[in-house]
Amino acid sequence: MNALALNGGNPACTVSWPSWPQWDDTERTALLSVLESGKWWYGDRVCQFEQEFAAFQSARFGVTTTSGTTALEAALLALGVGAGDEVIVPPYTFLATASAVLRVNAIPVFADVEPDTLCIDPDDVIRKITPATKAIIPVHLGGYVADMDRLVDIAGKHRLFIVEDACHSWGSQWKGKGTGAIGDCGVFSFQASKNISSAEGGIILTDNEDIADRCRSYTNCGRSKHGDWYEHFLLGSNLRLTEFQAALVCCQLARLPRQTEIREHNAALIDAALANIPGIHIMKHDPRITRHGYHFYPFRLDLDTLAVPRLRIMDALKAEGVPTMIGYDRPLYANPLFQEQKQSGPASCPVSCPFHGNPPDYRSVSCPVCEQAVQDTLWIFHTVLLTPENDIRSLISAFEKVFSHLHELR
Ligand SMILES: *Cc1c(COP(=O)(O)O)cnc(C)c1O
Repeated sequence: MNALALNGGNPACTVSWPSWPQWDDTERTALLSVLESGKWWYGDRVCQFEQEFAAFQSARFGVTTTSGTTALEAALLALGVGAGDEVIVPPYTFLATASAVLRVNAIPVFADVEPDTLCIDPDDVIRKITPATKAIIPVHLGGYVADMDRLVDIAGKHRLFIVEDACHSWGSQWKGKGTGAIGDCGVFSFQASKNISSAEGGIILTDNEDIADRCRSYTNCGRSKHGDWYEHFLLGSNLRLTEFQAALVCCQLARLPRQTEIREHNAALIDAALANIPGIHIMKHDPRITRHGYHFYPFRLDLDTLAVPRLRIMDALKAEGVPTMIGYDRPLYANPLFQEQKQSGPASCPVSCPFHGNPPDYRSVSCPVCEQAVQDTLWIFHTVLLTPENDIRSLISAFEKVFSHLHELR
């Protein structure tokens, strides 16, 4: 039988994977038309994109921002989250989920993730609720939707807000409704690596007009739709998108439904194949996720059974022609920002905050499921899922080859 490519055999998969971002003449034409119109600033195209994207995710209102990070910050401000409030977040995510909480002088409280979804665990959320808890930020990891039924129920009982960090879930749906406005509001990012992109950019979605108005005000210098141009009501910022960016994301959004179908189709093929490989755990199938946006496809390795280090498996897959990524390599709270927080973070909160001068000690935080997941998870990036079915069959054969030749890696 053919030896592993890592050991000199022939690679099982010789696909050249798509590059990212993708564009064509529609982007070229749209960008030129903004240029030549001379209307570069915050106008019709931003408004068109906000309406189209909100409708696409089944939300009533959309407010664009400069990034997913600033979208989270504006959303928390709009909900009145501030000094001394606690916000429950998962540790298996990008920094912004928790740093946005610090930015509004509130306290991120970490609740663990579930082992078979890698999304926030509702039972641990319940354990982390205190009288100071004001909101929960579930992350729809890789496009997988966190258990919104239970989270909405918990939030209702404890009078908490839900801000969905939907920065991986363009197109994802929970029981037919798009992510983003299942909670009080939700945020998306259009940074360069994301499934629709304008290099940088973000949006807040909500069904609540009052929240939408406050988000608009925070992102537009504290103005009000009823006030004068030079009349400022809130301490906001300038987080406006440009017409160039809006033109780009409009084009990208038009391509997204078809791309999502391809990614879902290919992910289902990978699911079926990896489920049969001993030592690989795929994510739990949840029929309430009626569309899955797939920013990446995560799977977990049972490293004890496999008796091969994760990096060695990655190298073997890479040699066969299959790119995988480690993804988040530490729980958020393991970052120096939290571990050495005397210099930064909550220590800087204003005098009105009960944590002023007395920040929570993140050195004692432990989320064991996350701590395990950062050791044994690999991601297949969304671009890989955008290939014809034949390429995915070739990817699957590379997996089958590596996992039937593990003895060569020991
Ligand atoms: C990308 C991302 C963000 C932040 O988005 P930016 O546009 O890069 O600021 C927030 N949360 C998650 C989970 C992300 O992946």
